[in-house]
Amino acid sequence: MTVLARSVAQLRSAIADLPGSVGLVPTMGALHEGHARLVSLAAQENTSVVVSVFVNPLQFTDLGDCDDFRNYPRDLDADFALLENLGVDVVFAPTTDEMYPGGLPQVWVRSGEMGERLEGASRPGHFDGVTTVVAKLFQLTQPDRAYFGEKDAQQLAIIQRMVADLNFPVAVRPVPIIRGEDGLAESSRNQHLSAEAREQALVLPHVLAELQERAAAGVPLDIKGARRMLRTAEGVELDHLEVIDPATLLPVEEVGEGALAVAAIHVGGTRLIDNVRLVPGA
Ligand code: AMP
Repeated sequence: MTVLARSVAQLRSAIADLPGSVGLVPTMGALHEGHARLVSLAAQENTSVVVSVFVNPLQFTDLGDCDDFRNYPRDLDADFALLENLGVDVVFAPTTDEMYPGGLPQVWVRSGEMGERLEGASRPGHFDGVTTVVAKLFQLTQPDRAYFGEKDAQQLAIIQRMVADLNFPVAVRPVPIIRGEDGLAESSRNQHLSAEAREQALVLPHVLAELQERAAAGVPLDIKGARRMLRTAEGVELDHLEVIDPATLLPVEEVGEGALAVAAIHVGGTRLIDNVRLVPGA
């Protein structure tokens, strides 16, 4: 039976009854195939699985006082049905008051310089909101393992660094990107795309796949050309495209074993991110 915990007290009592190892999957809900993959992996590797569903205002512009937060898709009934189907033990879906009683927290976990680049440059404070809520979720659920998608490559790197820097006794498990049949990375925000905008958004995975093929073939990457393709694509606004070291998030000149091409675009008012691993000779 899947327990729905709406409060910290309910979560604590549900967690106390869980046997064996615990896998945590933090989400903001509006669940899709990508989330389902994280949950399946957590179920394979742990005795018990906890999934959090919480649209965290701290990681949105103006601490949630923005349309992006208000319009973020929410459907707890559908999410709970899906998670019940996947055999999840506990779904933690707290209210904002339950997570932040008395308003905003005074004490935050700061993501530092890693949180200021790339996504953080366009969304100031976003990653401080992420590290703060994830630290709270780790404290609340005491997981043995926690599952994060490689789609949010910067988030994954920052959480790995937080766990190392603050000695959280949690193993961070990265999960590869799940894509739709057309190649677009699954995202809760895809719900906002019209059919036309979705078609236009496909330039993002196409340009990234081309970079991946070039790297594999040992051909120079032509990042400027790739940026130009995104900048000039119909209906698309380029935020950034960079080749980085996935652990430090710093730009790299040479495509080593594990370089990442990361990009963000806006299509039809929706912000989309994606990335591919560049492996020479793959
Ligand atoms: P979100 O609900 O968007 O905050 O995502 C919750 C978790 O699911 C994060 O660790 C994301 O990186 C991960 N995730 C979201 N979309 C995908 C995807 N298409 N493939 C793999 N993981 C994903």
